[in-house]
Amino acid sequence: MPRKKSNKKDENKIKDPNNEISKTKKKSQKQAKLSNDEFNSFVNDISREIIDKFGLDLINLKPDDIKDLVEEIINSIVESRVTKPSEESLLKKFINSKDQFMKGIAGRLIERDEVNSRERLELIIAYAPEIAGRASPRLYKIAKQLNAIDLIDNLRQLWNRYGLSTPIRCPVCGFNSVMPDMSCIVCGSLLDEKDIKKEINLREQLSKLKNVYNDKLIREIIDSGYVVFDGEIKPPSLKEKDKISISLHLNKDEKDILLKLLSKA
Ligand SMILES: [Zn+2]
Repeated sequence: MPRKKSNKKDENKIKDPNNEISKTKKKSQKQAKLSNDEFNSFVNDISREIIDKFGLDLINLKPDDIKDLVEEIINSIVESRVTKPSEESLLKKFINSKDQFMKGIAGRLIERDEVNSRERLELIIAYAPEIAGRASPRLYKIAKQLNAIDLIDNLRQLWNRYGLSTPIRCPVCGFNSVMPDMSCIVCGSLLDEKDIKKEINLREQLSKLKNVYNDKLIREIIDSGYVVFDGEIKPPSLKEKDKISISLHLNKDEKDILLKLLSKA
């Protein structure tokens, strides 16, 4: 496809003259189907219709805001057809693929940094959950400004499904988004071991470790002075390389909890 190789355009012109010929041919085929005037009037009419039919006026979008997306879609429909499409048949295609269109709108709002209302955020979550999940770090800040607590809950779920979710929950924003350096990739907080220990209830988990590990492994934790946490507490030797984890150093009290477990044996 010549379009995808846009950076090699000049090279292609010289090396592959057929490429240019086929391009011209394609263009004239398209012109035979719809005149420029027809094409533009279809784009204008359909953009207006869609704003109304899909309720996009409720999120403050105007026909001009969606024109380029409508244009792109009409173009691809026209290219895939042999005969000239009518405005009605084009509009029908838009209505039949509403979800897909709304997803495109959602993607654009994020791309252009135009998520500025609760309604727009709701649209993104409803129609483009994957995009919303991946864009959680940005959308979280917006939702927080809008005080949309319920939408933050939705974002947390989508982040877990589609984002870069980690085993460690951030006590500040509540997303599973703490990295091994103890920074949160959603809200940007810098945490310390104390925050994480509290968040995962380390002391209680340590006191139950005897149900999970034998004495040798518990002894290993005491001797090395730290545990690895990847959703579960582990002795350093059981650290899994491909899992995101955090090392938590044990203070005297925490070591004592483990020593007590061993003395009970
Ligand atoms: Zn956070």
